[in-house]
Amino acid sequence: MKAVRLLDGKERSLLRRHPWVFAGSIARGKADPGETVRVEAADGRFLAWGAYSPSSQIRVRVWSFDEAERIDHAFMKRRVAAALALRSRLAVASDGVRLIHAEADGLPGLIVDRYGDVLSAQFLSAGMERWRDAIADILMASTGAARLYERSDSSVRALEGLEPRAGWLRGEGATSVQIREHGWQLTLDVAEGHKTGFYLDQRDNREFLSQWVARLGLQRVLNCFSYTGGFAVAALAGGAHSVVNVDSSAPALVRAAAHVQLNGFDASRHEAIDADVNSFLRECLKTGRRFDAIVLDPPKFAPTAAHAERAARAYKDINRLALKLLEPGGLLLTFSCSGGVGAELFHKIVAGAASDAGADGAILARLEGAPDHPTSLSFPEGDYLKGLAVIKQAGPTHPDSAG
Ligand code: SAH
Repeated sequence: MKAVRLLDGKERSLLRRHPWVFAGSIARGKADPGETVRVEAADGRFLAWGAYSPSSQIRVRVWSFDEAERIDHAFMKRRVAAALALRSRLAVASDGVRLIHAEADGLPGLIVDRYGDVLSAQFLSAGMERWRDAIADILMASTGAARLYERSDSSVRALEGLEPRAGWLRGEGATSVQIREHGWQLTLDVAEGHKTGFYLDQRDNREFLSQWVARLGLQRVLNCFSYTGGFAVAALAGGAHSVVNVDSSAPALVRAAAHVQLNGFDASRHEAIDADVNSFLRECLKTGRRFDAIVLDPPKFAPTAAHAERAARAYKDINRLALKLLEPGGLLLTFSCSGGVGAELFHKIVAGAASDAGADGAILARLEGAPDHPTSLSFPEGDYLKGLAVIKQAGPTHPDSAG
């Protein structure tokens, strides 16, 4: 077994069970891509078993902190079983479920989503790549799924020295799937869709929107960065009179329109706009178009904390525009999926946006990803999705505000 010896003092994060070893922490030792190594402190004492990745800054990703544990087929099987056991207790209100959420499930670099009887997986680290075949067999045996599609075509693979790859890994057939989420039907394509095909992490926030649209009697809903319009279907289900989906992906909007009809809503209640969200919001400001609820679910503006400042400006800008377009008493659901922007910073950004918009807001709820996308205590970096549900109140520039 090859060993990786750390520099003095660099064992601290591992002792806290943080699962990454950065290249700069290593004194000596190397291995092949994905090979299991013994990680040792400067004095030689055991710290962890991990997967070595020669080309990544994250040089080792930890499999286990238990010296007695062997990293073999049975180990992978135990980790998969533990992840599935957690999901089975969560009573997820959908047959679209994230089964394995990488580090949080002790399987760094592995994402597995279940869509009905189809699995869609991403192998994103050298370690996971090495165990790919074993994982595929284990998944098929332990989930009872009929087919497994691989979507290892994310750009992060390049950091691990891995080529992009996509296609059926087990079974074959049509790549389009229909799932039931809460009370509605949605479709996706595991080959063509974003990520593994769909954004399961927003499932419960879609339900949240549906409920509050109903409770507050919100009529005109604008869904920005709509992708295939999941939030719009939820809003219609909650009784919204009309929904507007805005996205820069034409195929996503075609699917969004189909989703409106699939769920039994008249097509006249839906509008699909293929545009840049920022330009569309400015256009509405000019023409005086207003909304009773707005969802802002943009892509990752800040992949790491280093991009946080530029990202903060971009978040502030769309939030300011949205708060201007919202009727007083209206609901803003605003999100950031940037790992580099924490919940506290995001709150500040939205507060700044409100102040610039001459509005104030009451926080109705702080939102996060659905529980089948867990964050582990020892790995806060995994906590990427945060959101705020804000009811717009007229700000100090509006003399007709309450009080
Ligand atoms: N809310 C969606 C997921 C949104 S993912 C859901 O619940 O399923 C982010 C989306 O933003 C993607 O569909 C992407 O096509 C779109 N997008 C990215 N940049 C954009 C831009 N500048 N203007 C409009 N859409 C954009």
